Amino acid sequence: MKTFKSTCCYCGVGCGVVVTKEGNGQLSLEGDKEHPSNKGMLCSKGMNLHYTVMDQSDRLLYPQMRLNRSMPMQRVSWDDALERTAAVFKTLIKKFGPDSVAFYVSGQCLTEEYYLVNKLIKGFIGSNNIDTNSRLCMSSAVVGYKLALGEDSVPVCYDDIEAADVIFVTGANPAWCHPIIWRRVEAHKEANPNVKIICVDPRKTDTSRSSDLHLQIAPGTDIVLNNAIGRILIERNYIDQDFIANHTDGFSDFKEKVMQRTIDEAAELCGINADDIYTAAEWIGRSEGFLSFWTMGLNQSVIGVNKNLSLINLHLITGKIGKPGNGPFSLTGQPNAMGGRETGGLANILPGHREVVNAEHRAEMEQFWNTPVKIANKPGLTATEMFEALADDKLKAIWIINTNPLVSMPDINVAEAALNKSRFVVVQDVSNRADTVKFADVVLPAAAWLEKEGTMTNAERRITHLPKAVDAPGEALPDAEIIWRFAEKMGFGDSFNYKNTSEVYDEYTQCTAGTTIDVTGVNYQLLKNNRSVQWPLTTSFENNILPVTGTKRLFTDHEFYTKNKRAQIHAVNDENTSEPVDEDFPLVLTTGRIRDQWHTMTKTGRVAKLNQHTPQPFLQIHPEDAKSRNIKEGQLAVIKSRRGEVRVKVNITEDVRPGLCFLPMHWGKILGSNLGRANNLTNNLVDPKSKEPDFKFSAVEVSLYKKP
Ligand code: SF4
Repeated sequence: MKTFKSTCCYCGVGCGVVVTKEGNGQLSLEGDKEHPSNKGMLCSKGMNLHYTVMDQSDRLLYPQMRLNRSMPMQRVSWDDALERTAAVFKTLIKKFGPDSVAFYVSGQCLTEEYYLVNKLIKGFIGSNNIDTNSRLCMSSAVVGYKLALGEDSVPVCYDDIEAADVIFVTGANPAWCHPIIWRRVEAHKEANPNVKIICVDPRKTDTSRSSDLHLQIAPGTDIVLNNAIGRILIERNYIDQDFIANHTDGFSDFKEKVMQRTIDEAAELCGINADDIYTAAEWIGRSEGFLSFWTMGLNQSVIGVNKNLSLINLHLITGKIGKPGNGPFSLTGQPNAMGGRETGGLANILPGHREVVNAEHRAEMEQFWNTPVKIANKPGLTATEMFEALADDKLKAIWIINTNPLVSMPDINVAEAALNKSRFVVVQDVSNRADTVKFADVVLPAAAWLEKEGTMTNAERRITHLPKAVDAPGEALPDAEIIWRFAEKMGFGDSFNYKNTSEVYDEYTQCTAGTTIDVTGVNYQLLKNNRSVQWPLTTSFENNILPVTGTKRLFTDHEFYTKNKRAQIHAVNDENTSEPVDEDFPLVLTTGRIRDQWHTMTKTGRVAKLNQHTPQPFLQIHPEDAKSRNIKEGQLAVIKSRRGEVRVKVNITEDVRPGLCFLPMHWGKILGSNLGRANNLTNNLVDPKSKEPDFKFSAVEVSLYKKP
């Protein structure tokens, strides 16, 4: 019997787990009591994580390829698969330039994997065409932090939960999607009944049900609400004049903006009582600790960046940031979305939060990597742009790593047409459940969680080491090894000559020296000794032991990462520019998660216990909307948008507002049909700054399904 300490590979809470491997190879798992993020707790998904490793029934076991899509896949050797891929990449790059190829990766990739793919394409191929599915969930928060605080830096930590007396949850359902965070919030409230929880969500959820105040706003009115709260904070003198004067810019424009709308007007637009807005503002204004959590309700929006800024504004005008229990806290949906941000895993950034448009930053990485080419000076294609470019034949080849865009991309017809038309597709994944496999020219089997070593960073900037505990089945390889083997076939072997991921990690940490996320000196041994560490490090190392755990909280000195060290308050417009509803499509559709599933179900869908909670997709619709359409509970409905349709049973409930309906985002195929796939309906609008799609607002109509 042997035990291993690892990290849950689902959501960004990053709970520590202890895995026990019995002599017969059976695995069992429990929460790690020593891990500061979860203190031994696990949610239903985390508790059943080991089943995803033990069930190998749908694993990809060996490399496969075919010379054209009408042929069946053939088993080939790793050398053959990677040599052919390298030959195709070299031919395309020679003929069409480096921007003819792209990598589309995942927030499930480990930090080392993210770093290597970035190094390869940005530093050696010469294109910035790498983007991640994290673009679909947190890029608006990245831009919001940068514009307000000067860098993509989450200023808070989980211990701020227990130091807060007002917890403001907006556009998020942590009770289901970040359950361990929510358990900490509930335990804090139980021990301190004076703590107030405010939930902002157009739907009633388990989060709103355990809150003191639910602001059930109309979809798309988040900025109207935040600006109204800002106005009340100013009018009732809850703002911190000294903090505003000494540490921020932009207050007078903000004040002018928020004064343009009365609270009654705001309440009417939001569809809530004005009194409730006053209550929320009073609680925030009087609080000693104001902690705000948000996820997709703010981020996945055509105005996502402005929604983020409008929330961060509330912390800046009250000075409620940089001290215990205070600050804006964007939760991440994936286990290593943060690691991707740190290593430059977006089309516009480089490792160490450097920017591709910054000549100095490019020069630093060119020198560090000793690149044979100049790093391109403009951002590469973002997630949605990649698939649009594939469909237009501007992009010739795409390499998809550990993500399932044929379920997760908005307006799925675009992604499907793109993969159909594409010249060359490489799919690197764990299982054949990914819907992209059938479009692949080359399939590369990847090692799964527990089958490879590496690191991840959770939502509170905490880096944890993940050990290898079991062998990967068949010929599956760790993703990092696949990339460094491919780089060698491309002729870059001297710069990708790694023996293990520990060497990759050491190289990555060196390039963070002097940046705001400095983790130089951290290595696998130190992480194993200390269990985890939060960046940036401010302490010295003695005998490879870290005396304290990095930095819990940023901006305690009120010096921000902007050039003049002052945070920027933004006067943001409150109009929503989502797809309009009309007579043909009068309802707003919002998509989201359910309790026991995660992403496109390629992992959770393999666990029988998790499938029991909600076995089929469903549409939540308000009783008034169901009645006017003559639809009864449990009947099959057709949901149509300007792009496609979905057919699922209805759940008639007052949990959604009139005019709003909700569909879970997890399902792809059901019984061979794509008619449960939410992204048949969503649109391809994106936030102009973050390029994050508008998953939370699509115009639809619902009708009873009638057999043809
Ligand atoms: Fe895993 Fe997230 Fe659940 Fe923690 S809260 S056990 S990280 S899914």
